[in-house]
Amino acid sequence: MKLSMLNPNPIWVVVLGCLISLTACGQSTELSNKRITNNTSSNMNEQDKVQLTEAEWKSKLTEAQYYILREKGTERPYTGQFLMHKKNGTYTCAGCGAPLFSSSSKFDSHCGWPSFDKELGEGKIKKIKDNSHGMSRIEIVCARCDGHLGHVFDDGPTETGLRYCVNSLSLSFEEANEKPKIANSKSAEAILGGGCFWCVEVVYQQLKGVLQVESGYSGGKYPNPTYKEVCTGNSGHAEVVKVTYNPDIVSFKEILEVFFTVHDPTTLNRQGNDVGTQYRSVIFYQDEAQKKMAEDVIAALNREKVYNNPVVTEVSPLQAFYKAEDYHQNYYNDNPTQPYCQMVVQPKLAKFKKIFKDKLKTN
Ligand SMILES: [Zn+2]
Repeated sequence: MKLSMLNPNPIWVVVLGCLISLTACGQSTELSNKRITNNTSSNMNEQDKVQLTEAEWKSKLTEAQYYILREKGTERPYTGQFLMHKKNGTYTCAGCGAPLFSSSSKFDSHCGWPSFDKELGEGKIKKIKDNSHGMSRIEIVCARCDGHLGHVFDDGPTETGLRYCVNSLSLSFEEANEKPKIANSKSAEAILGGGCFWCVEVVYQQLKGVLQVESGYSGGKYPNPTYKEVCTGNSGHAEVVKVTYNPDIVSFKEILEVFFTVHDPTTLNRQGNDVGTQYRSVIFYQDEAQKKMAEDVIAALNREKVYNNPVVTEVSPLQAFYKAEDYHQNYYNDNPTQPYCQMVVQPKLAKFKKIFKDKLKTN
């Protein structure tokens, strides 16, 4: 903690109290280290790590997040968004999206920062001796991206005896049970990239048996990308839709038939004027059955010479789907007169409606 960060206001009193308590922790650190398992080298595979350049981190994070996560800063106590946060879910690393703490391990430590009594799983957090600022403490960092989270102390009030003291700015939050709408119907998912997700989303919204369509990103180098990052093509993500459907009404094969009708699967990393790997044609399968069906359909399209050129659609295992920003959801319906929608999306929708007229939702 930098003293220069602290304002000369009543918060000082609390801060001083905290500093004193930190110093007290410092004095007992040698003892406490026995309870805090030291794991400076995590068991994470190198390929699972998120390693970005400083420039990439700067463009991905806000200035405040960069200061905390990459420069080991500390946010002012009693200012963080997660201090009094009480929702059920998972706290993830704001740098790389790695799940770090469950809301069930959160407790009120009265110290001004969100506090947890245990981490979510073995190896997700690295602990490093930190003798800065004249104190002897144990720093905690995200094992996946080495982002600074805060410190861990052995003065916790629960049975673990631990207090993970974490900056809110180091965390993001994923609320549990976000899908109540479709919980009661039988459902399966298909994750498909066919160029700009606005085009693909609106088509599936009209297909009978489809329960929900979300626009998002899959297949990139790191979790939780922004639209801006995906647009550069450097993050490796493709624009995709997650189609949640009732398999009793529409099959995965029919979902694929629609997919291969409304985009051109023969142009590598390109749909019309949209060029870049983010527009690649891709099926992210979730099990062996989806993989086999995707490969069979592609083989049949090539065998029957349905297109003049071979299908270049990528078939890859799904790692994760990251929902895009809210303004990308339901884009065509919310912006039907936008030029891109009129010129690019509308013709695709019209083609779909013509070919699949008996498979449209009736409303
Ligand atoms: Zn991380």
